Amino acid sequence: MCAIAGAFDVPNASYVISLMLKAMQHRGQEAAGIVSTDGKVLHDHRGFGLCDEVFANVDFASRLPGTAAVGHLRYATTGDSNSPECIQPLMAALRYGPTAVVHNGNLTNYRARRAELEEAGAIFQSGSDTELFLHLMARSHAADTVARLSESFTRVEGAYSLLVLTRDKLIAAVDPLGFRPLAVARLGKGYLFASETCAFDLLNVRPSLPVSAGKIIEVSANGDRSTAFAVPQRTRHCSFEHIYFSRPDSNAYGLSSNVVRERLGSLLAERAPAAADLVTAVPDSSNTVALAYAEKLGLPFRFALIRNHYTGRTFITPKQTARELGVRMKLNAVKSVVHGKSVVVVDDSLVRGTTAAKVAALLRDAGATAVHLRIGSPPVIHPCFWGIDTPRRAELAAAQSSPAQLAALMGVDSLAYLNVDDLRKALGDEAGNAYCTTCFTGTLPDEEPDVLDSELIRDR
Ligand code: 5GP
Ligand code: MG
Repeated sequence: MCAIAGAFDVPNASYVISLMLKAMQHRGQEAAGIVSTDGKVLHDHRGFGLCDEVFANVDFASRLPGTAAVGHLRYATTGDSNSPECIQPLMAALRYGPTAVVHNGNLTNYRARRAELEEAGAIFQSGSDTELFLHLMARSHAADTVARLSESFTRVEGAYSLLVLTRDKLIAAVDPLGFRPLAVARLGKGYLFASETCAFDLLNVRPSLPVSAGKIIEVSANGDRSTAFAVPQRTRHCSFEHIYFSRPDSNAYGLSSNVVRERLGSLLAERAPAAADLVTAVPDSSNTVALAYAEKLGLPFRFALIRNHYTGRTFITPKQTARELGVRMKLNAVKSVVHGKSVVVVDDSLVRGTTAAKVAALLRDAGATAVHLRIGSPPVIHPCFWGIDTPRRAELAAAQSSPAQLAALMGVDSLAYLNVDDLRKALGDEAGNAYCTTCFTGTLPDEEPDVLDSELIRDR
């Protein structure tokens, strides 16, 4: 998962982008980058680390001048985390002029398309699937940037919410199934784009609108022009955005993530109540779900686990040992809350089971007499091919073991999940036509036939 942001016709555009990226820092912490245009030349600055670290000594007005810019935060799901060539925005000198692209989502036919292009002589600079867009646009003979970009979309499959910056244009697009979120808002006479609407709130820009699946929006000195390059019969918005990724103060796909999380907690309470002295959350991601769960059951909610805010997200850490130490560093139990009490601990999701096992041990060490684990989403049984970092099936706890086996493994007195129907209900998508739930069901979409026999399946 990543964050993208764009600004057009906005004074100090690159500085504004840096603020928007910072508001979305939770979406990716490996690397950050911004490209701006002064109308003639594209300027760029990028690096590993948090937004504040990468831009600490950057004088935006001289280093990244201009009134249009795009930015990106990286959380690697393809390409090597340590290779600087993968830090976005990716740039290329096309014969049509310098072009920068930022992309959120994974292309499912990347390897096949890359092999074809290499066969024809293309030289790839990075291991990032995003680079495909630059190669495909470079090869196009279509009349303008929008047409060249649309042509590239006929060659790729998978998830792409992206922004393309040229000397004098900003173009935004979302794939035909609308996997990853992207929203647009006006700032004065200019335009802003962002993965999450919390980035707009920071600048007091309201209201914003989601960019629809299959849409391209071009912004230039002539204003905005929107075209549909695909007309979807249904969408596959990411349900994990609402469960985990988005900040609760963001709207994703036009729906408040806080509203979804409250519904998840309340449905979980109906589905899997537990008798206990108190309910607690695994901060921060499950706070809203846990609170709604407690409220529905009339149980007291207490902060039994405290988070160290300076450690970042533990899931991001690639090695399992580092991840385990990371959880320890990140969370600690409050003895005075927990001692002698039976506790329901609500988390938003259970993927590898690392967090839940550590949390159970922390609560027991702090003197909990019983620990009941409740998960505000269904068991994750299938990897994601569209940009969520859910691992190979062998690493997915729920793909290997039943809830009873997992409860024993993790040392909890009981474990219960939400079911898929309740998740759909919380998303307002009972028919299942709007949201993707592949990680919970294993059902692959008919619209993406190549996924079915792609290298991705074999790998995972
Ligand atoms: P587990 O520890 O079981 O592998 O993962 C579940 C925990 O990680 C939950 O506390 C959840 O909030 C968080 N989580 C779930 N999915 C993701 C993800 O894609 N990225 C990150 N950074 N954290 C996740
Ligand atoms: Mg969490």
